[in-house]
This record gives sequence, structure tokens and C-alpha cells, in this order.
Amino acid sequence: MSSTSLYRSIFSLKCPRCRQGELFNKPGLFRFKDVLEMPEKCTHCDQTFRIEPGFWIGALWASYPIIILIEIPFLLTAIYWQNDHVWIVFVGMLLAFILFFPLMLRLGRSIWIHLFIPFKG
Ligand SMILES: [Zn+2]
Repeated sequence: MSSTSLYRSIFSLKCPRCRQGELFNKPGLFRFKDVLEMPEKCTHCDQTFRIEPGFWIGALWASYPIIILIEIPFLLTAIYWQNDHVWIVFVGMLLAFILFFPLMLRLGRSIWIHLFIPFKG
């Protein structure tokens, strides 16, 4: 039995079915190596993570809003600032994109699989 909440399961990158097993081979939202390396199935409940061909392409629909949320403050700053140094904001935007890239990909996949696999604790 697990008492892990849905949100905790999504943000800690757990298997959606048991909320115990890891979605990725190496845990963490800020891993820059082997970002998308996943086991074939859950080590705890045997739920497959290879749902169907192309399943993970749909995860981009979850990743896209995440990176938009991260970049919006920079865009608003650039609009508000409107001077010759606005390029600094765009450098910040690029750095934020690079920094949050693994988070965007992994959280996107976690949200996506949690939408389709129900919890069976
Ligand atoms: Zn599991």
C-alpha cells in the first residue's frame, strides 16, 4: 500500500500504477546525462513503460507548457525593460532553457504517463 499522492508521484518521477518504482533509470529532475533512459517496465509492479510506439511523442504536449511557464518571466522582463541591454534577458532565457531542459523532458513524460495509467495501490 502506498500513500504517495498523485502530485508527489508525478514530481518524484514514480511509476503511475504503484507510485513506488522509478520511471527513469537514474532519478532526479536535473540530470543532464541519460535524461530519457527508462526501464522497460516498473521494477516494483511490472507495469510496462513501453505503452505503444510513439507514446512518448505525446509527452511533448506536457513538456511545452512547462518551458513556457519558465520562460514567461524573462519575456515579460524583456518587454518591460525595453532598452539596449535587453539581450541580457535573452541570454538568461537561453540559460534557463538549458538548465530546465531535463526537468521539462522528465516532468513532461511523468505527467503524460500519469494521465494514461491509473493508480492501483
Ligand atoms: Zn510500478
